[in-house]
Order: sequence, then C-alpha cells, then structure tokens
Amino acid sequence: MSDDASPPSVLHPPSSIDAEHQEVERGLQFTHLMMMVTQNQGLENIAYLKALAEVLIQKGVVTEEELAGPLEQARQEVAELPIPRVRLGEMGDKYAEGEAVEIDCASLIHLCQARCCTFKFYLTKQDLDEGVAKWDYGNPYWIRQGEDGYCVHWDRGSGGCTIHAQRPHVCRKYDCRSDKRVWLDFEKRIPAPMPELQGRPPVANAKIIRRVREEAVGNRVHLMTNDVRQETSDERPVMEGGTDG
Ligand code: SF4
Ligand code: SF4
Repeated sequence: MSDDASPPSVLHPPSSIDAEHQEVERGLQFTHLMMMVTQNQGLENIAYLKALAEVLIQKGVVTEEELAGPLEQARQEVAELPIPRVRLGEMGDKYAEGEAVEIDCASLIHLCQARCCTFKFYLTKQDLDEGVAKWDYGNPYWIRQGEDGYCVHWDRGSGGCTIHAQRPHVCRKYDCRSDKRVWLDFEKRIPAPMPELQGRPPVANAKIIRRVREEAVGNRVHLMTNDVRQETSDERPVMEGGTDG
C-alpha cells in the first residue's frame, strides 16, 4: 500500500531513478547505433548494387527479368545472417504441460554456481507480455544481466530465481545435464571450470558495429558472422529453434 504522506524521495530513491535513467540511455544508444548502422549499410549497398546492375545490363550480361530470381534468394540468405538485431523468441506456451525440466538445483548449486543464470538468451513474446522478466534495453530483447554477469533476477544471496513462477520459457526448458559448459560429468557431479564472467554486453554489440563500419563490402558479411557467433556462443541451445525478430 502506498503512503500519501511520504515525500517523493522516499517513493523514488535517487539510486532507483539513476538506474532507470541508465537503462533508458542504453536503450537510446542502441536505437541510435542501429539507425546509424542501417543507414550506412543501406546507402552503401544501394550504391554498390545499383552500379553493378547497371554495368551488367549495359553489357547485355543479364536482363532485369533474369535478376529477379537470384535477388529473391539473396534476400532470404541475408535475412538468416546472425547480425545484431532485435531478437524475440516464439516458443509457444511456457506454462503448457511438459515445458519445464525438473532438476534439483538446490542440491547442485554449490557445484555449478548457477552458471545457467549467466548465459545470454532472448525472451519470448509471452515473456514480454507478462512484463515480469526484465530485458536489456541496450540489446532488445535479451535477458537483462548485472555487472557481475548474472541475470538480474538471480538472487545473489540464496542463489535462487526471484521470478521462478514466471521465469522465461528458456529457463524452463533448459537442461544442463548434457551441457558441457556446465558439467564435465553430470552423473559424477564434476562441474566444468567456471569461466570468467564478462558482465553485461555492450549496447547493440558495439564491437560488431565497429567492424561493420570499418570493413570493406567484400568481406564484411563474413566478419560479421564470425563475430556474432563468438559473442553469442553461450546462448542456450534451446534457443536455437527460436524465431528471430
Ligand atoms: S546449472 Fe543446472 S543445476 Fe545449476 S542452477 Fe542451472 S539448471 Fe540448476
Ligand atoms: S530468470 Fe531466473 S532462472 Fe532464468 S536466468 Fe534469470 S535467474 Fe536464472
């Protein structure tokens, strides 16, 4: 219950406001960076392809009609590239029977250190509609992580999930037992070495954006693909079947 007599500073502590401002700022940075990348890429690609098509048509190598089929195929291939972009999963109803994997985490957490809660993954539309799981404004709609590299919903004291009943779909389906990032041997309870945690990722994956701006058109796509694979290599396997937005 709210207290009408309470001063605003009590209702909205400065630290809370600062934190929200930082999140909004990250969101704006993401938006602006993506706009810049999109503009640069778009203009460069249009100019390059326009020049190329005109040369080919002038030389009588192809006609506009002959270009139509390959153009459509190229569009589909580009759509599948793992470039930095807004990602939103579609995995059905997370509350449906059989969606949750049962593991006795409480008895294992001293070994695994809950490293599953350091993995990066993106939310689903159902998660967003609930408005419970927080996403990273700087990398929509990935789970929000703290500076320690753990999910913001991970309880640093108890090691549990503070939104367990409404945890994201990915968290419900994830099974660490055969994941070599977590267990060298689950049956013998031998955990894999704990990697050094990186903290939350840069806005819009800034490293990739720098590459996009710096690399020549010829090898740019190859470099982007490699970078993103490295930087998202700890995505949970269950998301591989997710739908990219
Ligand atoms: S790594 Fe496995 S055992 Fe450990 S908290 Fe995560 S799901 Fe539970
Ligand atoms: S939502 Fe809960 S279970 Fe999922 S990563 Fe965060 S703390 Fe872990």
